[in-house]
Amino acid sequence: MDIIKIRQDFPILNREVYGKPLIYFDNAASTQKPRQVIDTINKYYLMENSNIHRGVHYLSQQATFAFEEARRNIQKFINAGHSHEIIFTKGTTESINLVAASFGKKFISEGDEIIISTMEHHSNIVPWQLICDEKKAKLKIIPLNERGEIEFLEFESLLNEKTKLVSVTHISNALGTINPIKQIIDKAHEFNIPVLIDGAQGASHLEVDVQELDCDFYCISAHKIYGPMGVGVLYGKEQILEEMPPYQSGGEMIQNVTFEKTTFNELPFKFEAGTPNVADVLGFDAAIKYISGLGLNNISAYENELLEYATAELTKIDGMRIIGTAKSKASVISFLIGDIHPFDAGTIIDRFGVAVRTGHHCAEPLMHRYNIPGTIRASLAFYNTRDEIDVLIQAILKVKEMFE
Ligand code: PMP
Repeated sequence: MDIIKIRQDFPILNREVYGKPLIYFDNAASTQKPRQVIDTINKYYLMENSNIHRGVHYLSQQATFAFEEARRNIQKFINAGHSHEIIFTKGTTESINLVAASFGKKFISEGDEIIISTMEHHSNIVPWQLICDEKKAKLKIIPLNERGEIEFLEFESLLNEKTKLVSVTHISNALGTINPIKQIIDKAHEFNIPVLIDGAQGASHLEVDVQELDCDFYCISAHKIYGPMGVGVLYGKEQILEEMPPYQSGGEMIQNVTFEKTTFNELPFKFEAGTPNVADVLGFDAAIKYISGLGLNNISAYENELLEYATAELTKIDGMRIIGTAKSKASVISFLIGDIHPFDAGTIIDRFGVAVRTGHHCAEPLMHRYNIPGTIRASLAFYNTRDEIDVLIQAILKVKEMFE
């Protein structure tokens, strides 16, 4: 990994804030986009813009081909069995809502149970709460140990004939924990229970093979894997998607419409009502090409080095408390400095040009689990460096000087 060369692909990393070089450690919230992604989107609007799927003219056919090619590339990226198992959505949140609404409508009834974990993002909590309220079903929560790992035996004991779905995150955005999703999926499948994986943080750090995992659903947001905002994917196994009713309705998702009756289109179009976000799907495709070019294995090896270095350096600081010390972790470090409020610390760190996130990271129940108001979170990407981590350490020492 030639980091100096890689950084040249990300123009924003050359800018300054408060007269200091920007150090971007908020990658779990959204990653920066390489020039290749931005150029792809520009080119589409400059030279290729057209609605897809229904035009006989040149531009429409070209845009349709590129859009469907992107679907096939994303299929390969996560090794899905069929391209029609790739549904384009606005992102992970919409992917989960689609499953909650559609799978929930058909398969959840009174007295049923859905299992999630304590570390879930609100996007993987609230859609299930809503469907549980509607259907008089129950949400069951897998507890965590102090390191922020799923208590596997407790998970097993929650599974029973009332369980209709397990929905867990691949990687925690707040703790960095990499969950043993293969084991979770295999165990749930022993009871014939489908499993949804929230892959918002997964696909940027790890190679994902949905066939090997055997997950029933996998959700991705493009903006967390160096692609544009407002687009993502729901992967679903063909058989289960076939059985699910439409989510939204309108153009594209229909086969024939009369005022008496409408028949629905085949997969994946059944779940893609309306004009899709073509430009950003092409940008998403460019992002996948970009990170595939670097190699997910190289990315995770380099990010692991950064994680180890940052953890070691942070641990040297007096009063440092790292929240989330799982044995298997991605490059996300949440921490607290003595009794200093995360917001106060974040404000000073920002003045050093370092973008960290402070707060509950859309995982309030997780913060309650640790009995803390929130954390300071540094989430590292392959374009970050050890020198940048050193600046964060200096900033934290300044925070201590000011508030202690
Ligand atoms: N799940 C996790 C684990 C996340 O980190 C996020 C984004 N922070 C989401 C879901 C929601 O993703 P989006 O806002 O892109 O829909």
